[in-house]
Amino acid sequence: MNAPTLLVTGAAGFIGSHTVIELLTAGFQVVGVDNFSNSDAKAVDRIQALKTEVLDLRGVNFKFYKADVRDAKALEEIFKTHVVHGVIHFAGLKAVGESFEHPLAYWENNVGGTMSLLKVMQEQNVKNLVFSSSATVYGIPESLPIKEEASTHAFSPYGQTKLVCEHLLEDFAKANKDWNISLLRYFNPVGAHESGLIGELPNGVPNNLMPYVTQVAAGWRDQLSIFGSDYDTPDGTCIRDFIHVVDLASGHVAAVQAMLSNLETHPLNAPKFSINGLNIFNFGTGYGVSVKELVETFESVTGQKLKHAFVERRQGDVPAVFADARKAKEFLGWEAKKGVDQMCSDAWKWQLNLKQTEVKA
Ligand code: NAD
Ligand code: UDP
Repeated sequence: MNAPTLLVTGAAGFIGSHTVIELLTAGFQVVGVDNFSNSDAKAVDRIQALKTEVLDLRGVNFKFYKADVRDAKALEEIFKTHVVHGVIHFAGLKAVGESFEHPLAYWENNVGGTMSLLKVMQEQNVKNLVFSSSATVYGIPESLPIKEEASTHAFSPYGQTKLVCEHLLEDFAKANKDWNISLLRYFNPVGAHESGLIGELPNGVPNNLMPYVTQVAAGWRDQLSIFGSDYDTPDGTCIRDFIHVVDLASGHVAAVQAMLSNLETHPLNAPKFSINGLNIFNFGTGYGVSVKELVETFESVTGQKLKHAFVERRQGDVPAVFADARKAKEFLGWEAKKGVDQMCSDAWKWQLNLKQTEVKA
């Protein structure tokens, strides 16, 4: 009996690479696709090394193709070469600030890429899809913690593309009742694999907090700017629901296990959870941590003093965001387990493994 095969788009990226490892560990075969627009071939080498040399996962395969998800012909070839049971679609552009400068690129890549993939999946009769959405679709939350039924509103072109893809997939699911589609709204993924062999390496100056923190600690950047200290929060800095990327990755395994629960070739004989049709899940921890708390935790866990300054608020930042994470626990049997200490120590371990030459201007 062969284990099911999952196609992972954006497999060389931050969340994709960690999810590939968790899928392989769970017994899935994985086919990865990436165009390296925000990653490079070294990420694929690192995944292969972690898989084979460290984790000794020899019974499962990770096959990788450099391809763009908007290239329908390339996708078709991949689907014809492998019997694909489901797709996890990470590929996309994700920088909020950049999306204001290049809205067309964001719409074309994120919406165009999803449409292209969906069409090929339909042609090839592959009916299980996990889509990477984001907590950004909640805009300024009306209440906390944020439930999946909360109203949605996008502030940036990036957020718009995520919301439009969600609407597209909702329409598609209504017309195709035999499909299983999971929309996963991630909160703030941080950290790295505990081996320190894979992690987050954004191109150029990081936009996100954790990679900026680790790069300051490593001496790659002068100091951290903490955006805003006058928010209406206990310590004046923003509050976020930081989630360890390995927890997030294992959540994807739980989602595909539940979606593929009726497959005869499932690696688990009797998956406990089963979902059908279109489902939306928050992927967060359920608790908020302030930016200041995260910085202090990083300092105490790693012993690194972090040069930082409190500066003006960053445009568009929402004061406090954290998930109601109970639905994923109830329907997928998954919840995040790792704490902020581990998020910081694993991110630092990864940073220490990187060489200065890895930074792209
Ligand atoms: P990432 O940039 O590290 O990974 C995305 C990968 O997709 C990159 O390797 C990139 O080269 C690839 N890619 C982009 N466009 C492509 C295309 N057209 N064809 C093929 N490959 C393409 O980002 P990530 O943090 O791993 O995010 C993965 C997904 O999760 C994205 O869709 C992102 O919007 C979403 N998300 C991320 C966060 C976050 O904070 N990291 C939060 C919420 C949602
Ligand atoms: N942040 C910061 N300095 C940085 C990057 C981020 O103070 O260099 C803050 C940002 O204002 C927000 C929080 O850290 O309050 C998380 O930001 P990030 O960009 O990581 O994720 P977001 O929540 O915006 O998706």
